[in-house]
Amino acid sequence: MLEKTLNPFEIVQKQIRQGCDALGESDELYHLLSEPERVLEVSIPVKMDDSTTKTFVGYRVQHNDAPGPTKGGIRFHPAVTKDEVKALATWMTFKCLIVGLPYGGAKGGVIVDPKLLSLRELENLSRGYAKAITPIIGEKRDIPAPDVGTDGQVMAWMVDEYSQLRGVGQTLLAVFTGKPIELGGCLGRKEATGYGVAIMAREAAKVKNLDFEKLKVVVQGFGNVGSYAAKYMHQLGAKIVAISDSTCCIVNEAGIDVIHAMKYTIINNSLKDYQYNGSIELPREAAFEQDCDIFAPCALENAITSETVKLIKAKIISEGANGPTTPEAEKYLLEKDIFIVPDILANAGGVTVSYLEWVQNLYHYYWTFEEVQEKQEIKMVSAFKSIYELSLEKETDMRKAAYMIAIQRLAKPLRLRGWL
Ligand code: GLU
Repeated sequence: MLEKTLNPFEIVQKQIRQGCDALGESDELYHLLSEPERVLEVSIPVKMDDSTTKTFVGYRVQHNDAPGPTKGGIRFHPAVTKDEVKALATWMTFKCLIVGLPYGGAKGGVIVDPKLLSLRELENLSRGYAKAITPIIGEKRDIPAPDVGTDGQVMAWMVDEYSQLRGVGQTLLAVFTGKPIELGGCLGRKEATGYGVAIMAREAAKVKNLDFEKLKVVVQGFGNVGSYAAKYMHQLGAKIVAISDSTCCIVNEAGIDVIHAMKYTIINNSLKDYQYNGSIELPREAAFEQDCDIFAPCALENAITSETVKLIKAKIISEGANGPTTPEAEKYLLEKDIFIVPDILANAGGVTVSYLEWVQNLYHYYWTFEEVQEKQEIKMVSAFKSIYELSLEKETDMRKAAYMIAIQRLAKPLRLRGWL
């Protein structure tokens, strides 16, 4: 069967519909949740190195602020669309709720290939975008963070721009998270999303009665999320047999030296031509067909489609990316009894540690790396347990159970505030 839609916003609306139906919730609630509260479209003039001005289009979407301020990353990618940012903002709401964070969801995006910009152009764009969204963000309003194509340096420029515009001489750290450690960042934030993907895979292995140390792993996507997911799954004892990025797939039956591969990508920008300890290079699509127990899609949306799904041999999928599995592909996986840790749980580690960063910024008191990872693990393992228990009780899958919990949790503040 081919995909009915690859539009992530239509996909998340379908997921909300299923969650509301499973809870016997009203149409009113579905309609309230199926559209974001606010969509801001901005156009950003950027001075380029050749003195010309180039105008970029961007968005900031705030899905729902009933539980608290909104929270979510900023994506710089050429394939960004308004519907994609709306979907990502909506997923953020459910993600925050299932790990028990006092936030609603938001997301930002700019249509740009950041790899084609010089450092100065990237700074100009980051400052321009921060300025454009300044009227609707704030530490108690909406708190952005990094996502695909942005990082701590981008957050640092944005903090500086926002502080100049709104700070009147003060440095306002708590309005962005994912900052460099030296600028109010949080130890363990850089590692957090990948670390979460790894511990969720470990929890899934436990309920499937599999010995993690005997498992083979494939990680699709080797950016911030995929590389740390691979590193921590290796640290937990599993063997990483394949990693891939947008250029190629690296396979090594004997196990990939993840730290070595991470160092290589820092220098070379990709895995292309990576050769070490007998690893071989294949086209990037080869990641789907490698023999493994855990498959972790850690790149972009719609990686596991009705075509690629048939190649996957894993028993567990831990979704590091947002929206990596289409509904048709998911149906196929569930029929084959493959255990899926859904994106809104598996990749919630990033926003969980962003929350810890925000708390530390507001209190001016900072935790150690170990304290941060311990707090992250407690929150994520407890979310996994409640979702798993509900999935058993309702005889449903982990994604539907996750939506049921999140929708129930969101319905409460909505009713208390009189929106329903
Ligand atoms: N961009 C990340 C996500 O999709 C992190 C968001 C945040 O830290 O606010 O979950």
